[in-house]
Amino acid sequence: MESTKVFEMEEDLNGLHEECGVFGIYDFDGGDVASSVYYGLLALQHRGQESCGIAVGDTDGPRKVTTHKGMGLVNEVFTPEILEEMHGDIAVGHTRYSTAGSSTRENAQPLVLNYIKGTLAVAHNGNLINAPQLRHELEYSGAIFQTTIDSEVIAYHIARERVNAKSAEEAVARAMDKIQGAYSLVVMSPRKLIGARDPYGFRPLCIGKRDNTYILASETCALHTIGAEFVRDVEPGEIVSISPKTGIVSDKSRCLPKEKEARCVFEYIYFARPDSHIDGISVYSSRIRAGKYLAMDSPVEADLVVGVPESGNAAALGYSLQSGIPYGTAFVKNSYIGRTFIKPKQSNRESSVQVKLNVLKEAVNGKRVIMIDDSIVRGTTSDRIVKMLRDAGATEVHMRVSSPPFLYPCYFGTDVPAREQLIAYNRSVEEIRQIIGADSLAYLELDRLKDMVDGLPCCSGCFTGKYPLDPPKEDIRGDYER
Ligand code: SF4
Repeated sequence: MESTKVFEMEEDLNGLHEECGVFGIYDFDGGDVASSVYYGLLALQHRGQESCGIAVGDTDGPRKVTTHKGMGLVNEVFTPEILEEMHGDIAVGHTRYSTAGSSTRENAQPLVLNYIKGTLAVAHNGNLINAPQLRHELEYSGAIFQTTIDSEVIAYHIARERVNAKSAEEAVARAMDKIQGAYSLVVMSPRKLIGARDPYGFRPLCIGKRDNTYILASETCALHTIGAEFVRDVEPGEIVSISPKTGIVSDKSRCLPKEKEARCVFEYIYFARPDSHIDGISVYSSRIRAGKYLAMDSPVEADLVVGVPESGNAAALGYSLQSGIPYGTAFVKNSYIGRTFIKPKQSNRESSVQVKLNVLKEAVNGKRVIMIDDSIVRGTTSDRIVKMLRDAGATEVHMRVSSPPFLYPCYFGTDVPAREQLIAYNRSVEEIRQIIGADSLAYLELDRLKDMVDGLPCCSGCFTGKYPLDPPKEDIRGDYER
């Protein structure tokens, strides 16, 4: 019998979550790679904090694949003892936040499958929009699924296609002809490391190199963490296959014309780490630019510009540089709280926001403050932060948001929720200002998004409702466990 729930878990206060981080590595000199995957995943922790895993293979020995997965942060799931037991020169790793499929250990990745040619391990970032149909088709042909995630549909397709394909990369290519939506994949076959990015390029994927070791990673910050150099991005629609025999072999036959590419613009605004570069654009610089545009388009007289940590900080600096208003720190964030924590009860004096953020009274007391955040999703956090600044003595609080208002959900690997849960749905900016209690409120203008990423073609579906691919009829964003 279930015990009475005394404590409820509180979700992260940002209201929006990253999707997943993927990492792959192949040491052509045969050295053990598990510890490098561990450090790579630590650098990608911001992309997923529910579960993680590593699968290590040995291309030269008995071809045994050792896998370890678990719920929690990378440094909770892996101990030195566990890593020391994971021998092999090729590996894939994953950090997960669930945007489709529930948060359970079974759904942790990488997925490891035994198939006709050996063992296959797959790590996926993104959401397929046709996963339910493909899953039904596979189930009707006798497939038995171990998980409820769309990534298993991809793994199954690759394994099936491998029966008739000449190579593992050809099997990946054939699977790509069936799957639709957002995916950045890292696949470990018995002798090759394969990376693939969907033709729209929703999610990032890059290639790095350290001596004779090749790396695939969601973000460049993971390359730098393990001392690797950035080689290049995997292009939207590209498949790269990496092995000592061939080096890096590229298949670009599924790439779309550049203007049809549709990277998730929210990677630049919020998801990615500021020290990463995606498709040649610095995430940090794009946030500085967003702040500058806010200062140009929505100026206001004030004494101090502050950012809501972490992703609001660079935009706040940009606003300050453009406006000449001093930049300062107003918030101290408790960095030791994970993605979820025990929610304070209504009767408690603690508030969820205060558990995570504290205001520096000395910095804001008696000042007119401009506060920059990356987004307003439901609005429940913004009103509390505005109040905290006022309670600390700010005489005025002007909120600027470094993205346009969220008006539509996302189907491509983030958890922008259904329209009715979005504060901007059916409300004017003035109505939102009143709800959050700010003295003024302004968002980034929609037409600034493109300049923010230097003209790179991006998806902005959650702001415009115009998606690069038709959204699915069935809601794929929840758990389609049946
Ligand atoms: S709909 Fe929004 S969050 Fe989703 S991929 Fe497009 S830009 Fe990113």
